[in-house]
Amino acid sequence: MRSSSFPQKLTRAARLTWSSVLNVLYPPQCLGCRQRLPDPAAPLCHRCMQRLDRITAHDVDERLARLPNASAMASVQVLWRFDAAGTVQKVQHQLKYGNRPRFGIKLGGVMAELVSDAMPPDLIVPVPLHKTRFLERGYNQSTQLAEGLAATLGVTMDEGAVVRARATPSQTHLSREKRWANVHGAFVVPDPDVVAGKSVLLVDDVLTTGATLVAAAEAMQAAGATEVHAVTLALAGL
Ligand SMILES: [Zn+2]
Repeated sequence: MRSSSFPQKLTRAARLTWSSVLNVLYPPQCLGCRQRLPDPAAPLCHRCMQRLDRITAHDVDERLARLPNASAMASVQVLWRFDAAGTVQKVQHQLKYGNRPRFGIKLGGVMAELVSDAMPPDLIVPVPLHKTRFLERGYNQSTQLAEGLAATLGVTMDEGAVVRARATPSQTHLSREKRWANVHGAFVVPDPDVVAGKSVLLVDDVLTTGATLVAAAEAMQAAGATEVHAVTLALAGL
């Protein structure tokens, strides 16, 4: 793991202090049923977590069927279905915009269940955020998920293994075809030795068309990764 700079450490310390103040003022609640939670890093109680709609291999295949070069990814696993205005959306929103990076670490631990024992990766890599978005948010939600996965699986995480070679406009309002053109070729691996000869697990928060994951997987393959697998927290609607 790369060490953080002093300003980053300071920001993190300030965030931790602020979150402990918030924990006293507003004790942590389950985002699903509002029951009090003993663990402020957990977004949901066990019961709510069990009730969420799980994604099957068939759901993933269906989503990737029209994606060019989906075979750049040896496997794709997704945990939950994104439910507009439901619990998964609340979790996702808090992780992304609610300044709750610790939720990511916890959720990454849950996502680790999807990674087969037969296929432990050599390296875990989060899909990078745009630099401007990173600066706005102060953290990359996918790095938090990747950290939770790495800790649970006992595998190294490297958040700098793949980077954005160019800024890409937000994908939110783009069609399927435009998303692909927008993100294709947008990633590079700055140091190919980091991934060469390795089985890499790419981590992102949401799978929509899969274009972002394929673009990142292609960059990994070009750098010599033997296999690229992918795992995301949620499957978004299209
Ligand atoms: Zn609950």
